[in-house]
Amino acid sequence: MSLEGSKPVNFIRHIIDADIAANKNGGKVVTRFPPEPNGFLHIGHAKSIVLNFGIAEDYQGQCHLRFDDTNPLKEDVDFVHAIEDDVKWLGYDWGENLYFSSDYFQQLYDFAVELIKAGKAYVCDLSAEETRQYRGTLKEPGKASPYRDRSVEENLDLFARMKAGEFGDGSRVLRAKIDMASPNMNMRDPTLYRIRHGVIHHQTGAAWSIYPMYDFTHPISDALEGITHSLCTLEFEDHRPLYDWVLDNITIDCHPQQIEFSRLNLQYTVMSKRKLTELVNDGLVSGWDDPRMPTIAGLRRRGYTAASIREFCDRIGVTRADNSVEMGMLEATIRDDLNENAPRRMAVLHPLKIIIENYPEDKVEELSAPNHPQKEEMGSRTLPFTREIYIDREDFREEANKKFKRLVLGKEVRLRNAYVIRCDEVIKNDAGEIIELRCVYDENTLGKNPEGRKVKGVIHWVSASHGVPAKICLYDRLFNHPTPDDGKDGVDYKQRINPDSLQVLDDCFVEASLAGTEAGERFQFEREGYFCTDVDSAAGALVFNRTVGLRDSWAKIEQAG
Ligand code: ATP
Ligand code: MG
Repeated sequence: MSLEGSKPVNFIRHIIDADIAANKNGGKVVTRFPPEPNGFLHIGHAKSIVLNFGIAEDYQGQCHLRFDDTNPLKEDVDFVHAIEDDVKWLGYDWGENLYFSSDYFQQLYDFAVELIKAGKAYVCDLSAEETRQYRGTLKEPGKASPYRDRSVEENLDLFARMKAGEFGDGSRVLRAKIDMASPNMNMRDPTLYRIRHGVIHHQTGAAWSIYPMYDFTHPISDALEGITHSLCTLEFEDHRPLYDWVLDNITIDCHPQQIEFSRLNLQYTVMSKRKLTELVNDGLVSGWDDPRMPTIAGLRRRGYTAASIREFCDRIGVTRADNSVEMGMLEATIRDDLNENAPRRMAVLHPLKIIIENYPEDKVEELSAPNHPQKEEMGSRTLPFTREIYIDREDFREEANKKFKRLVLGKEVRLRNAYVIRCDEVIKNDAGEIIELRCVYDENTLGKNPEGRKVKGVIHWVSASHGVPAKICLYDRLFNHPTPDDGKDGVDYKQRINPDSLQVLDDCFVEASLAGTEAGERFQFEREGYFCTDVDSAAGALVFNRTVGLRDSWAKIEQAG
């Protein structure tokens, strides 16, 4: 299959097509991806990135990368860099259009002052608890704050002193004066600014003691940058009236259109940054780039290609319907990619030694093996064949019926890319465990079946003297529940962690051609799955991660589950 197919079609692109046809925004398309630098990006963010950058590309527009950095308590410059790396790795380029909401702190402050002067914002001294009580419920209207009718002069004075750092955290906020009886809770005099004393912001240092809220910052940042279509996830639908209110009540000559789409949920994992942060901080995974994490960094380390993630995002599409995507769908995209593009290699995960008794002790034959069975253009590599080799323990049985098309005592099997061997003897230790097999090979069987005998089974192998020791990590789903954080049955998502999500095999052997492999290289290990070289891999201490198996193991789980 081709991974980069035709351009996706979705309701947002229909809206943009109509806008262009009507010459709205002068026919321009400017989007933005606005992450908060409080964690690494995950596959859900990839959906938003592919949508926003993809639209900019296809409509010859621009997509801005804007860090939505209004909560310095949770943010960090390391996250800024990780996010930049991930967006680039996914294949997108914001060019000169890198922004921070904190770049606009002065302008945001000035717009807040404009609202105060117009009698549309006020400083409120209610505590957080009181504010909650005054807000009312979905069924009952809220009550006006006793501070709602402060004079403009008093509000200006208090707001300036909030900025100057005169008041403690939580003692006062600036609120919009909208409608305490609105059926939309977001319109019941929402907070615009809060006090954050003495925190050092990663971009602005100690310059500010007050920080603007998302609902105030976002529309203004969008407008200042000339965004045309502000695409966000569905939970912001109820915030859209506030987005529009802010822009309608300040002096600004741009009013982007907010359009909502449904967020990506992926089964058997969690996607909230708070929870991902917890997994990292509690040591439940090895870090943000743990190959079991749904983060871009984790998927990359696991062996996913950027093209496969983009393709996944295209396949799931963009709609307004709530959805929960099966993990098998994500895995199918990388399997399709690697099936086409990953060179084949041999690796033995559970080694069992074979001595080929009729093969000379010091002989080494350089056999040639294709890198891809269907793609000659991918070339070939040489495989050293020697008297001692390893096969996988699973590929041998002392007795078996005809269905077992591998090596059986007294029977023949083909070694992939090499000869047919027959097993004549099984060597066991005192505990009765098989430790070695004695076999003979037929020198007339290289690349062809022996005359008059059909050898059906083919197994993989690695030369014992020329193979390279390696550590191989096998991964399973991180959680053993399809929706780990649904909160149902009062079970915390952390109690649903799959205890067997990581299996480390320390004593594997891989073929000699893998000796110089570098981090991020991807392969199919024949009959075992798709693997990539880990970043911790070094010459003499190779480490591989299994990206996915050869077939969809999720289908079975779904049926059984
Ligand atoms: P949190 O989990 O803390 O609420 P967030 O995932 O919303 O944070 P942001 O950094 O605010 O994190 O997200 C940046 C952009 O990515 C937003 O526009 C958001 O709508 C989008 N986004 C986040 N999660 C998903 C998701 N699962 N599917 C699609 N888009 C997402
Ligand atoms: Mg968010």
